[in-house]
Amino acid sequence: MSSLPLENRVAVVTGGAGGIGGAISRLLAEDGATVAILGLPVDRDRTEKLRIHLNGSASKLHFYEGDVGVFDNCRRIVAGIVEQHGRIDYLVNNAGITRDHTVRKMTIEEWEAVLQVNLSGPFFMTKAVLETMIAQDFGRIVNISSVVGESGNFGQANYAAAKAGLIGLTKTVALEVAKNHITVNAVAPGFIDTEMTKAMPSAAIEAAISQTPKRRLGQPEEVAHLVRFLVDDRSGYITGAVYNVNGGWYM
Ligand code: NAP
Repeated sequence: MSSLPLENRVAVVTGGAGGIGGAISRLLAEDGATVAILGLPVDRDRTEKLRIHLNGSASKLHFYEGDVGVFDNCRRIVAGIVEQHGRIDYLVNNAGITRDHTVRKMTIEEWEAVLQVNLSGPFFMTKAVLETMIAQDFGRIVNISSVVGESGNFGQANYAAAKAGLIGLTKTVALEVAKNHITVNAVAPGFIDTEMTKAMPSAAIEAAISQTPKRRLGQPEEVAHLVRFLVDDRSGYITGAVYNVNGGWYM
């Protein structure tokens, strides 16, 4: 029987049972990778649902409960994944939240919550996996940023700042570990059809669609496809890059 292309690879996907994260976890598992999903308690049930859809690849998915905004959680969970699976080849920093308000109305708690999950989380996870990747002399880190980290967005100062910061983190880590055969890239989705966009007022979604040259929301699978490309063995010369997947909304 021929082996799958990602057989023997181990991926960690934060928020990996959500909309975009679920599509990434599914695609990597279908291609043979073992996928460790790090998420909040509700993601345990979502992981079970993903398993049902995966049929033959279901045993490739493993759930680890934890908040990416707490460094000790990240360190403990990553150590557990390495102990259980022996290595970590891919880290996809995908977990993210929104707490939207204009700056005038945004509370300090809303600012801090978004920065903690969306920017400190990827830093904590990167810090937690790097020694393992360096020892392997191989790794792929993909950070899920956002188009609004490039363009700004009304009512999203915290989210846009975190996603822009994530691009700076991507480029810096890419520089620091290039010699270790570890690539670090960012993916910047536009408006994708997930629970996050479903929480937006319908007028805002309609406005986003009408401003998108492709005239539709993106699908989570379209983001997953780009992540799959970036983790491929053949993508080793691509690092420190930011890839848009936004239907032309921002060029
Ligand atoms: P989603 O379906 O809400 O998925 C986000 C996932 O992250 C959820 O499973 C969520 O769990 C989990 N999560 C939240 N806080 C966490 C924490 N502290 N620790 C661990 N896991 C946590 O949203 P999505 O649209 O797929 O978003 C995925 C990523 O894409 C995010 O980084 C988002 O900013 C980015 N993005 C999304 C869009 C879009 O249009 N949808 C556009 C650009 C970028 P809970 O459900 O329990 O909170």
